[in-house]
Amino acid sequence: MAGTGRRRGPPTPMSPSLYIDRHAPELLRLLRQLVRIPTANPPGDRYDEITRLLTRRLEATGLSARRYEIPRPLLRRLLPADQQGYPRYNVLGKWAVPGAARTIHFNAHYDVVPVSGGWIYGRGTADMKGSIASLLLGLKALRATQTRPNLNVEVSFTADEETDSLLGTGWLVEHAPIDPDYAVVMEGGEGNAVCCGHNGVVWLEVTVHGLACHGSRPQDGINALEKMSALVLALDRYKTLIARHKLKSPSGRTIRATINVGGVFAGGSGAKINTVPAQASFTIDRRVLAVENHAAAERELRAFLRAAARRIPQCRITIRKVSENFACYRPPSHPFFAAMAGSVRRVRRTRTIFDVSTGFNDMHFFAAELKIPTLGYGPGGDQCHAVDERAAVKELVASAKIYADLLTTFSG
Ligand SMILES: [Zn+2]
Repeated sequence: MAGTGRRRGPPTPMSPSLYIDRHAPELLRLLRQLVRIPTANPPGDRYDEITRLLTRRLEATGLSARRYEIPRPLLRRLLPADQQGYPRYNVLGKWAVPGAARTIHFNAHYDVVPVSGGWIYGRGTADMKGSIASLLLGLKALRATQTRPNLNVEVSFTADEETDSLLGTGWLVEHAPIDPDYAVVMEGGEGNAVCCGHNGVVWLEVTVHGLACHGSRPQDGINALEKMSALVLALDRYKTLIARHKLKSPSGRTIRATINVGGVFAGGSGAKINTVPAQASFTIDRRVLAVENHAAAERELRAFLRAAARRIPQCRITIRKVSENFACYRPPSHPFFAAMAGSVRRVRRTRTIFDVSTGFNDMHFFAAELKIPTLGYGPGGDQCHAVDERAAVKELVASAKIYADLLTTFSG
């Protein structure tokens, strides 16, 4: 108000947290823009478009940014034939902070699982385009309020996490010019839980080969479905066996090794009601604990399947590996984890826990390959489905503040 005679000091600089609150609508606009580009994987759709946008947004946030296209020979070697026409890109942004000795790396994947069923709107809002929008606002808040981070910042937005990440974060840690001391993969932990490890996975497809014949004389054929059923039942014993393998997370939760049978199952081509089925197949999703040996877990599962098939008369099988991902875990004793827990506590005003995720994500590339302290945290979860926008905004804003807080309180 003019003329009240109140003395005016220099304007108080706005805090990053207040900046984030005021710019929440901007975060939501970017998120909608990202979700409107359906980057379904497989096959790896519209990666070109989204990575161009992400590169521009990193630059607009004041980072130097570069987009890397995966060389064609590598695509030919690693992608199935029907995906060769879909180029792969990773985006890397850097913020070199004067005087900062250490570097922190933030990673998110921009691909989403393909839509199944009618739920299309908002696919990828939670997993994990929300994280991308949160981080960009967090960084922008630091820039805009002239708050200098204590660490150099690297940001990567990568492809193909929903399959095996080999051309995404797997490529990045091997070929891109990065040199992080710490990493935050922006999923796996959410709410009051900071993720300090995750399960690995082996995905197998088992095909049972029978012999077709006319359904009026079933005794002349080998019924692949019946053989497959016997094999699936035999796997019950395997479930009990591996359930003895366990990992206790720092939060006190016990996580056991598991298999999920038949996430995908199918008959052969040309199936008819009056034909003895010649082929049947099913998948196995084996979750591997960080305390297990990954290769041994796969070897044992294959051996169990072959032995079980031998005990079933005329049951001939072939086993194909669909994909795999490695586990990682380290007790959260490094100060980096305590710093993140502090940031979560300050922003959310709750007590925090450290947990291990039964799902997999890209943390293991940083934790196991680069061997640096790595945690998982993001807005995640079902709250972020665009159907409940207010809940979504609250979580996204909290994550933006947590990332900004970590950057200004932890110096490595
Ligand atoms: Zn994800």
